[in-house]
Amino acid sequence: MDLKDHIRTVPDFPKPGILFYDISTLLAHPAAWRECVNQLKTIIAPMKPDLLIGIESRGFLPAAPLALELGVGFTMVRKKGKLPGECISHEYDLEYGSDIVQIQADAVKPGQKVVILDDLLATGGTLRAAIELSQKVGADVAGAACIIELLGLGGRDGLNAPFHSLISYE
Ligand code: AMP
Repeated sequence: MDLKDHIRTVPDFPKPGILFYDISTLLAHPAAWRECVNQLKTIIAPMKPDLLIGIESRGFLPAAPLALELGVGFTMVRKKGKLPGECISHEYDLEYGSDIVQIQADAVKPGQKVVILDDLLATGGTLRAAIELSQKVGADVAGAACIIELLGLGGRDGLNAPFHSLISYE
């Protein structure tokens, strides 16, 4: 099965000039979504993670079922102010300005092996911030994966962890 057949592209969303890769159609197709989670499992199971980390918000979608499949925990990296209790923050640069991501302070035990997931890699800034945040709380980041990779932006080059994607576009 070609997962690309189940990704819908939406021009000019969320702003003019952006081609949005919409995984809603993949999620809506149980066999294709099963195939996607299976492919991620094939890549990630050999890394033997103790914990999967999903990036807000579409990174939660593959990470949560995959954590169940692997029999490991799942935790969230979210934008500032969304997680209750004590949180650790990491500020990162955007094209204009900066943003802050957070993880709960007790979510990762020092030395735990984690794999981080998101739906799509573009510039890599979001995933890089999640990797740095995870390392800040003592995680051993064994790898990172996305369903979709946009190759033209070279996002994987800036990542300080082995990176995998299931499908890519120029
Ligand atoms: P970046 O930090 O540039 O790698 O952007 C990746 C994050 O933004 C991911 O969480 C994606 O969900 C979202 N994103 C960026 N570009 C797109 C796109 N063209 N289509 C869908 N999602 C995107």
